[in-house]
Amino acid sequence: MSTVFNINDDRIQKALDQAKNLSDNQVRDIFQKAKELKGLNDNDIATLMMIENQDLLNELYHTAFEIKEIIYGKRLVIFAPLYISNYCKNECLYCAFRASNKDLHRKALNQEEISEEVKLLLQQGHKRILIVAGESYPPHEGLQYILDAIATTYATKIPNAEVRRVNVNLAPMTVDEFKQLKNAKIGTFQLFQETYHIPTYEKMHVAGKKRDYQWRITAFDRAMEAGIDDVGIGVLFGLADWKYEILAMMQQIQHLEQKFGVGPHTISVPRLEPAHGSDIASNPPYPVSDQDFKKIVAILRLAVPYTGMILSTRENAELRKDILALGISQISAGSRTNPGGYKDSEQFDYAQFQLGDHRGIDEVIQDITKDGYIPSFCTGCYRLGRTGADFMDLAKPGEIKKHCQPNAISTFLEYLIDFASPKTKEIGMQLIQDTLKTMDPKIRQTTERMIEKIQQGKRDVYV
Ligand code: SAM
Ligand code: SF4
Repeated sequence: MSTVFNINDDRIQKALDQAKNLSDNQVRDIFQKAKELKGLNDNDIATLMMIENQDLLNELYHTAFEIKEIIYGKRLVIFAPLYISNYCKNECLYCAFRASNKDLHRKALNQEEISEEVKLLLQQGHKRILIVAGESYPPHEGLQYILDAIATTYATKIPNAEVRRVNVNLAPMTVDEFKQLKNAKIGTFQLFQETYHIPTYEKMHVAGKKRDYQWRITAFDRAMEAGIDDVGIGVLFGLADWKYEILAMMQQIQHLEQKFGVGPHTISVPRLEPAHGSDIASNPPYPVSDQDFKKIVAILRLAVPYTGMILSTRENAELRKDILALGISQISAGSRTNPGGYKDSEQFDYAQFQLGDHRGIDEVIQDITKDGYIPSFCTGCYRLGRTGADFMDLAKPGEIKKHCQPNAISTFLEYLIDFASPKTKEIGMQLIQDTLKTMDPKIRQTTERMIEKIQQGKRDVYV
């Protein structure tokens, strides 16, 4: 029997109703509870959503910052999206790739073109790639097109560098298709529900397979049945009321935890950006202000402390800086959202949406390094099988730091030696030295051994 999963709207309404009249002290109790790093329930989350008072907001941000520091320290994982095709059979009113958008230039990269794009990303220093495509694969190829693209991405090499992890953001699949995707060695299967609110979902998705809300919301159930234990969840903010979306997303997270013993590995927080020929993308029905966006990120950090949070280049550089401190663990850098965009960055007629951050990877890395973050290209957990419940078992008692810190520094050092500009290299080398001084002596020892190997010319050193 096929799976059905429904969001319980009454539960959401009850949580929002009880949250209206709570005292400041009751809100502060929730901050204390969050610091135990065991997550929050619906009522707690709804209460935090109601905060308007600036002092309490600052306390919320500070709590999120503290939790981020405890669990993730200063590391920030870097990745790049690789758009391979903008053909799509669906009609998502907010997306430039929608089938009826006749003004968009269509392109599906062939395997050679994919390899060329991968080489350009490798030359920038990337190691983690997110493959993205519209929901229409070239006829006669079908899913094989995606499987070949993943194989091509892994097989493409330049001196000193190769892609070490391929994640994907693709349409929902059958269990059998998910099994093929797992065999192709994907890292995370990422899929955004866009909106959990059914009337809005129906309004926004007017034709194509994506109209089927149940097919989409049960995709992770099928992925997990197929053995993919690393999934990435997300909402496209701006379509419906963000308070509803967060509480609904929490229900899906709890559903996965109860059914499979593990929740999502990451949460993405995209906001609607202007897209070619889309009125809705430029005028979101429920715009999320920068202030509310900060609140969303901070609340999620308190609610699911061990789940990674991804921020893309949809957001501008200034806001990204603010938001990073509140609990983001992964960012994209130097992104293009048009197939072939790394080779020909001027071809915006093919792009999915407008980017808020146009900087190249070196500039992004230099900037976050100046703020004390260690950019990490680590892929250690995935390659050593530390995924799904195994990852959470390590993450929860804080054990994961033993791996994350050394791996972040070793991959950052590789980047600095092989790809960074002289200025970035100088700032980065200093940051590594400063960070070593603050580390637990045992972890520091491990890290210093790894640093030595990299300086002697060895690459891909991880624990
Ligand atoms: N076609 C697949 C799908 O829809 O699930 C996967 C790729 S789609 C290009 C990836 C994501 O882009 C969508 O899930 C949606 O959230 C996001 N997106 C689409 N239009 C957008 C816009 N105007 N601004 C920001 N994100 C957008
Ligand atoms: Fe197609 Fe995905 Fe864009 Fe919808 S969001 S039109 S499914 S590419």
